[in-house]
Amino acid sequence: MSALADLPPLRAVIARHGLAARKALGQNFILDLNLTRRIARTAGDLSGADVFEVGPGPGGLTRGLLMEGARHVLAVEKDPRCLHALEEIAAAAPGRLTVLQGDALEIDPRDHLTPPIRIVANLPYNVGTELLVRWLTPPVWPPAWESLTLMFQREVADRIVAEPGSKAYGRLAVLAQWRCDARIAFTLPPAAFTPPPKVASAVVHLEALPAPRFPAPAEALQRLTAAAFNQRRKMLRAALKGLAPDIEDRLAEAGIAPTARAETVPLEKFCALARALAR
Ligand code: SAM
Repeated sequence: MSALADLPPLRAVIARHGLAARKALGQNFILDLNLTRRIARTAGDLSGADVFEVGPGPGGLTRGLLMEGARHVLAVEKDPRCLHALEEIAAAAPGRLTVLQGDALEIDPRDHLTPPIRIVANLPYNVGTELLVRWLTPPVWPPAWESLTLMFQREVADRIVAEPGSKAYGRLAVLAQWRCDARIAFTLPPAAFTPPPKVASAVVHLEALPAPRFPAPAEALQRLTAAAFNQRRKMLRAALKGLAPDIEDRLAEAGIAPTARAETVPLEKFCALARALAR
């Protein structure tokens, strides 16, 4: 721990290794170690867990994870400029940090880590939603991971935890809440990052449920929510008519009014309708 605490400040690391932020890689760094340790603590007890970190950059969150006691961290970074800085952290935490250079979209955490696995990342915003969907769907689901603790733009975070009846409620809420307990742990202003992004951010914590919250065939649920929310202003009997010729009967079976709109339908009823459609 003391070797980690003795590493130079992140601002000095960035200057020494020439890590000027690149927009194309979604680089908005967090330089405050109190903040990165707070994100690491949000993930829960890390002492018995392997952690998968996407996009460590200069390593602020990586240091936070190691300082908060992570058993092992696998950090996948696309930008080769960051590797020297990350090697210095690995040397200060012998045997606890593995750094891979590459695209996180091509890496399956199950190939590299031993359960329990927790995924923690200050995500590049351009691939954040895609990564979340990947971690929530087969083949990565049923999950090899216990939890996801992820930074998103505030607007995306709101969509993940949204309740029915709100504008933010949609496919992402259904997908995430079907399989996880999801909450916004805290929000962050643009000034918490270097350089500051245009919008506010939030850390979302998702704990995997032992089984989906309500039974439903995954594929039917996905097709259904895609159709329902693609035409969210339409009544469901119109939005879903392509899914089944007798859609009004299936809606009735699930206890959903044919005139209802997708954004008012709770998760439990979407699951009931997916079951009715799969029969
Ligand atoms: N974790 C660091 C922090 O908190 O300061 C950096 C976070 S920055 C928002 C996102 C990081 O993800 C950048 O370092 C960027 O180079 C990296 N990145 C972008 N796309 C990536 C991808 N497809 N796979 C892995 N890393 C990626």
